[in-house]
Amino acid sequence: MKKTSIPVLSEKLAAPLQAIASPQRIAILLAIGKGEACVCHLEAALGWRQAYISQHLMALRKADILQDRREGRYVYYRLKNASYLDLILDSASLSGLSAETVSAIINTKVYPSCECPHCVPVLISVTALKPKTS
Ligand SMILES: [Zn+2]
Repeated sequence: MKKTSIPVLSEKLAAPLQAIASPQRIAILLAIGKGEACVCHLEAALGWRQAYISQHLMALRKADILQDRREGRYVYYRLKNASYLDLILDSASLSGLSAETVSAIINTKVYPSCECPHCVPVLISVTALKPKTS
């Protein structure tokens, strides 16, 4: 069997790096993390306009990094392969950040301004904690 040449191998290896090589895409991957997120959730997490986020989500989906799932009026995005988060964590050490700093902001945050099902159960439990008036 013929050995794969370095240039051919390099092209393959560059593909996943190129697909996530922008601060915006890395931000979206960090905000989605190991779970799922809808666009409204990403809006709350990143503070960007929905159209801007959708544009990047579409590119990440096209690059086969994200998959989506519709549930009612929400479309949820998740990483097809969690290894992209490992790749970002490896980049943390190369950029002089600690992996802990980066892994601390990955995923599972709940935003009061977001009404997605991921965030709303917490709002309900907060309401339930209020003392009864009667
Ligand atoms: Zn949310």
